[in-house]
Amino acid sequence: MNWLIAHRVASIAAANLHHRLGLPEDGFVDVFEALRRSGLMVAGDEMPSLFGAYMPPGRGRHGGILLNSTMSEATIRHTGAHELGHAQMGHERCLADGPDLFSGLPRNKWPDEEKQAEAFAAWFLMPIRAVKTILTRLGLDIPREAADVYQLSLHLGTSFRGAVRHLQHLHMATPDVAAGWRSVQPARLRARVSGQTGQPPARVWDLTSLTDGSDLHVEQGDRLIVRTPRLSDRPTFTGPAAVMMLANPHAVELDEGAEFDIAGNIDLPSPLTVTSPAGQTLWSGTLMPTPEDRRGLLAAAHKPLLVGPRNGARR
Ligand SMILES: [Zn+2]
Repeated sequence: MNWLIAHRVASIAAANLHHRLGLPEDGFVDVFEALRRSGLMVAGDEMPSLFGAYMPPGRGRHGGILLNSTMSEATIRHTGAHELGHAQMGHERCLADGPDLFSGLPRNKWPDEEKQAEAFAAWFLMPIRAVKTILTRLGLDIPREAADVYQLSLHLGTSFRGAVRHLQHLHMATPDVAAGWRSVQPARLRARVSGQTGQPPARVWDLTSLTDGSDLHVEQGDRLIVRTPRLSDRPTFTGPAAVMMLANPHAVELDEGAEFDIAGNIDLPSPLTVTSPAGQTLWSGTLMPTPEDRRGLLAAAHKPLLVGPRNGARR
């Protein structure tokens, strides 16, 4: 099976699973919610040589997914979607996904099941409607440069490289254009957007008035640049305790915006509102929390998390 066929099969399977699990296709796809609704047993643990694994259902046992809890949230989301792909497409073998497959083997040599699951992960995390909705929020029809793709990837909750690759499948980038974007280091993009060349923040959101009203799936360590003209040089804000406003913004002038650092966990969906000194709301967004099961996977690496019919849902 070539990649073109794998993508055709996977795009249909991903749309079917969105539909079956009742997940919206017009924005960020919550993989952890998908895992919870899938009815599969899901466990997170330290697995030094594995990203994840899929165990098909058998006589007297549920199907299950194992995820390496020491990976970054974006990697766990991707691996979770990949394993859901094995399940949705009815793969019948026990499949372990390690770094060998993803870095040691040329992509055209991958087994058919792995091509399908990897294509599924892209379509599951980046449905066309989600990509178009977010591009509109960025003021774009299609991405023009690598920095646009970086912002798109933040809103989608995917890696930069994963987004570049998928934009080719969506016919929003030619192979040459995509190769150009891939050659740009995300650290350079972060430095450019944040105006901080020394040690740029881990992730940098560039938020204009078009993002007013958005849900933002932020992480500890993120920088938010909120561009609001006519702000005055004494902006005020309301937001959760984990949010700190920078006294001296790096990327915007004081009267053109405000910058925030996410310094801790967000516990509940929390509005972040930027107001003028007169109390007028100029920009508002909702900072989305890291739910318990996601945090369990990420933070308590030694403690397996179980979701599924055997032990009931945790949330
Ligand atoms: Zn796999």
